[in-house]
Amino acid sequence: MDSLLYYLIPMMLVVGAVAFMEWFAAWSHEHIMHGWGWGWHQSHHEPHDAALEKNDLYAVVFAAFAIALYFGAAWLWPLWWIAIGITIYGVLYFFMHDGLVHQRWPFKYVPRKGYLKRVYQAHRLHHAVKGRDGCVSFGFVYAESAAKLRKKLQDDRRGLPTSAREDRDQRPSGH
Ligand SMILES: [Zn+2]
Ligand SMILES: [Zn+2]
Repeated sequence: MDSLLYYLIPMMLVVGAVAFMEWFAAWSHEHIMHGWGWGWHQSHHEPHDAALEKNDLYAVVFAAFAIALYFGAAWLWPLWWIAIGITIYGVLYFFMHDGLVHQRWPFKYVPRKGYLKRVYQAHRLHHAVKGRDGCVSFGFVYAESAAKLRKKLQDDRRGLPTSAREDRDQRPSGH
């Protein structure tokens, strides 16, 4: 029983931290990065040639927070396992978002089926809307189906005031 708890509690802390981070990442992506934090995130929604984006600073902030927790574990041991969960989430985020979707690794791989394809398509649709407003799918590990997201995009578009819709319709062609 003791040894069960010895393993069970850390495991629950790690899994809980990973799950919480997906929720928190999606929430902050929607309400901070596409809100008052757009100044850093904008770089990610615009085409560019540079290897680094201002948006990467968000990853630095999250990493710094995890490192602080590792140090904090000297005083409060559960922080160690929470920090490990955040680190695992960071690796998942880089794999899914920077690797799979945005191809920031030196090979090309586009998933053709299953869960990876779902995540890939969902984040592609996040980038389907130009600019800060009206985007869908803010998570990185959990994703709604492409069909659902496309419908959301269509509904949003219909809900726009006419002036904004015309403005958006004209932008891509721009003759
Ligand atoms: Zn975004
Ligand atoms: Zn992206």
